[in-house]
Amino acid sequence: MYTVTNPATGELIEKIENATDVEVRAAIDRVHRGYSSWRRRPVPERAAIVSRAADLFAERADELAATMTLEMGKRINEGRGEIGVVVDIFRYYADNGAALLADEPLEIRGGRAVITKNPIGPLLGVMPWNFPCYQIARFAAPNLVLGNTILLKHASICPRSAAAIERILHDAGVPEDAYVNIFASSAQVPWMLADPRIQGVSLTGSERAGISVAAEAGKNLKRVVLELGGSDPLILLDTDDMDSTVRATATARMRNCGQSCNSPKRMIVLADIYDEFVDRLTTHVAETFVPGDPGDPATKLPPLASVAAADEVAGQVEKAVAQGATLRTGGRRIDRPGAYLEATVLTDVTPEMDAYYEEIFGPVVLVFRAETEEEAVAIANDSPFGLGASVWGTDPDRLRRVAGQIESGMVYLNSAGGSQADLPFGGIKRSGMGRELGAAGIEEFMNKKSIRM
Ligand code: NAP
Repeated sequence: MYTVTNPATGELIEKIENATDVEVRAAIDRVHRGYSSWRRRPVPERAAIVSRAADLFAERADELAATMTLEMGKRINEGRGEIGVVVDIFRYYADNGAALLADEPLEIRGGRAVITKNPIGPLLGVMPWNFPCYQIARFAAPNLVLGNTILLKHASICPRSAAAIERILHDAGVPEDAYVNIFASSAQVPWMLADPRIQGVSLTGSERAGISVAAEAGKNLKRVVLELGGSDPLILLDTDDMDSTVRATATARMRNCGQSCNSPKRMIVLADIYDEFVDRLTTHVAETFVPGDPGDPATKLPPLASVAAADEVAGQVEKAVAQGATLRTGGRRIDRPGAYLEATVLTDVTPEMDAYYEEIFGPVVLVFRAETEEEAVAIANDSPFGLGASVWGTDPDRLRRVAGQIESGMVYLNSAGGSQADLPFGGIKRSGMGRELGAAGIEEFMNKKSIRM
């Protein structure tokens, strides 16, 4: 069942029945049929359509932001910001598609060859609720320019965002059978993947879903991209402005109410500034992130996406404290309707506690003390995840040196949790496999065909 429930009030607004197996099969028929003509359209034509999609996302930004606020509690300004990034992604692939898909001549022993860039067929996308529009953009924009067609199963709590995105793409000129939204259940995903017409799958979501989808993809020899969870380290080496460092790091962690895969969930601070950082961070978090209506631009702490999510994060905090962690501020569900949880700071989390290794997907900061730079790197790398990371400090050479030692797919210097259209995004270890965005993002479901002259 797909549902729209306002997480700020708990009010159930709409229920939509899952698609039947017959409807899912019909949707696969459509993207298969659509592929034969979409792949033949010249790249500039597909790019022009994707560029029109960018314009329509920009035109409908307010409506999309309001839908995300209603469905998953995103702060309205963050919703508008998300659409800005979506527009940028569609424009990036529209503007650069021809160059990214140009033939690559190759000198080889005894002659010449050319690598041509071709689509592979209909793809399945399985997407999460935390960035309802951005997640789809990362997958859809490059693949539509490349000539693949898309069957999209969105998260079951954001059906209105899913429908609005499909409408924009069709209004922009993407043929109705080249992008199809389907209200499928996660139980239908395995047999959708087993269908020989589906050539690959991209899933953004939890480890649990990733394991299931990767197993099915393996069984059926399908290409797979997995963008999974993370517990990104943020290493703070030194600062010449503690107040602005506290503000910037806290803002990065609390963005999207802490529900970002590449949010700096573990802050690792060198011993000489640890006490001051923790004190100021605790005060700042307690004073700044007070709950409010996500539709009000002044609000700093919106609800989490659902009551279940808020209960789960509160449970993780409670368990950490029971296991010996120190609760500096927050930690409790807020006594009002909806999915609110206090902004939280935890310290003294040790490897014996569950919170040390698990992802906490909510407004919770874990702060660790490191005696040396080496110890900071060791703590950063002591994680099953390897999505992003950030290193903060004043010496560029030192930042670069530490960045080089971190085991993750991305490292940012003096900022955290970002994403931009032309920079590849993705992780290692249990954070997944493959890349989205940039040139790498259009290559995942590409047939790089070698033609020997
Ligand atoms: P989720 O429960 O895994 O859901 C994601 C999508 O997968 C939804 O469409 C969901 O459908 C579907 N799904 C769930 N279980 C499945 C299964 N067994 N087989 C097939 N599909 C399945 O994840 P979430 O809670 O929505 O998202 C939060 C997670 O995503 C966090 O761990 C976060 O770090 C991660 N994430 C990663 C990135 C990245 O780029 N690395 C970006 C954003 C989020 P239903 O909604 O119908 O259950």
